[in-house]
Amino acid sequence: MEFRSVSGALEDYGPDDLSLPQFFLDFQHSSRPVRPPNVPWLIEDQTGRPIAFDELRIRTAGLANALSIKWNIVENDVVCVFSPNHVDPVCIWAIHRLGAIVTPANPGYTADELVHQLQTTKAALLLVYAPFLPTALAAAKLVGLREERIIVIEPFATSPYNSRHETLSGLISFGSSQSPNFVERKLHPGEAKTKVAFFSFSSGTTGKPKAVVIPHYSFTLNILQTVAHHGLNDPSLKKKHLNPGDVAAAVLPFFHIYGLVVVLHYMLFSGLSLVVIPKFNFTDFLESIAKYRITHLFLVPPQIVLLCKHPAVKNYDLSHVKLVISGAAPLSGSLTNSLRQVVPNAAIGQGYGMTETCTTISMMSGRQKMGVEGSAGQIIPGLVARVVRPDGTFCKEGEQGELLVTGPSMALGYLNNAQATKESFVDGWVRTGDEVVIKNSEIFVVDRIKEIIKVKGFQVAPAELEGHLLSHPAVADACVVGIPDEYSGEIPRAYIVLREDALMRISANPSEGEMLKAALKKHVADAKIAYKQLAGGVVFIKAIPKNPSGKILRRVLRDQARKAHANM
Ligand code: AMP
Repeated sequence: MEFRSVSGALEDYGPDDLSLPQFFLDFQHSSRPVRPPNVPWLIEDQTGRPIAFDELRIRTAGLANALSIKWNIVENDVVCVFSPNHVDPVCIWAIHRLGAIVTPANPGYTADELVHQLQTTKAALLLVYAPFLPTALAAAKLVGLREERIIVIEPFATSPYNSRHETLSGLISFGSSQSPNFVERKLHPGEAKTKVAFFSFSSGTTGKPKAVVIPHYSFTLNILQTVAHHGLNDPSLKKKHLNPGDVAAAVLPFFHIYGLVVVLHYMLFSGLSLVVIPKFNFTDFLESIAKYRITHLFLVPPQIVLLCKHPAVKNYDLSHVKLVISGAAPLSGSLTNSLRQVVPNAAIGQGYGMTETCTTISMMSGRQKMGVEGSAGQIIPGLVARVVRPDGTFCKEGEQGELLVTGPSMALGYLNNAQATKESFVDGWVRTGDEVVIKNSEIFVVDRIKEIIKVKGFQVAPAELEGHLLSHPAVADACVVGIPDEYSGEIPRAYIVLREDALMRISANPSEGEMLKAALKKHVADAKIAYKQLAGGVVFIKAIPKNPSGKILRRVLRDQARKAHANM
């Protein structure tokens, strides 16, 4: 059977001829909650500086003009933003004003990881947060991007910052002082459905990270769907989970689709102020929650583990927190229950979605006082879900199977990867690769069929780590799986088949085995961001289980590892 939203039909599908900044900065959609005067859009966490709409809009225009004058950025050019959360999301909107495409990258990436993103998207310009300049320079050199094509985002726009590169604030001043060099294009009716806004990275059901092609309309519609799901424009709903003037923490990264859509854009659209936090440090985070009397927390499960278990929490009164939404990875019922003690006045629920669906598929609805324990929420209006068995037939309500979703907010596919697109985007349906049970309109994510490992909510693609491990001279074959971890959710573990000579060496001297394991961990640590490291250890085995056509039977090792972990 098919499942639809029970939180109401989507009455307004929104404009399909507006880009994200046109929808967001220039247009007053009828369902947009009205922000009271003097409620700032953003608050800089470290300084407390409030930032109003006018400032953001003016900075966006100035930057767009500068990008046009200095680099001739035009339609469909790709610009990479390599930055943690920052009070200048104007980078995104300025790039879109020019019809260009944003590819947001994790600033913790190593140069090699950034190279993959720059090469896949053919980025023409790189905006980098100052402390990450060395990585950006190394990556730019490797892909042949000239140094003049690097712009530095200074940590504080209000403090002077010396750099031999152009700086964001310098460019904004320059662009604002010049007459406009570009004419913002109006989209034709329907064009926003295919006009590309973002290349966001995800490895999908299999293989290495790929660029997901996200059009403007998918993005803006996903916001409107969530507005409807929360009943923000429903006058009959008296008590709402979100109200203009509330204050949300923007601690989830804007370079990930959850932070980009739900936190940055949905919160601002709904009239909340966002306290912009560049780096998650738990005790500083507690201070910020208290200092700004933050009411809305969008988090990932490891942050909830800390809220429930960290001794410092007892020193804080969190009674002003009204809503906590956990997403990006499963949140257990027991953790939800513990959280209730910590934020006694908050509605607690989950959101569930993926990059390929331009974020939200389900969330606790506005008509629920509290999320159902263990549930990833109810499907949002405008989407249709199917749960299918391995043979493609439909599951009944309550039966476990793979979730497929469709609706007008889906991404368009993977950039330059027809095969992967064909596998994950099937006749308008996105294969989530997640095993779910839908019962009483609640989606329970019970397992994952796809390969990805989720570490602290971040994707780790086994294929990426296996490819890298195979470049080590001692490795004949490799398989990486996720093993359960209380804090991170999962952590990567590598099963390794050694080459004959390495095997002989460790049989002659067993202590060499431990040294080799450490060397393999280092081999990964040297090339990959922290969350991809082999925190789950290295295990030597005789052979990687494979099917007759040579495909790794990853699940065999994953289930073995889970069993061993459960018996520990
Ligand atoms: P990403 O594209 O990085 O957002 O990853 C999407 C994947 O994260 C989904 O397909 C799920 O496997 C997982 N995920 C997201 N939200 C949840 C949730 N609430 N519960 C369980 N898994 C989740």
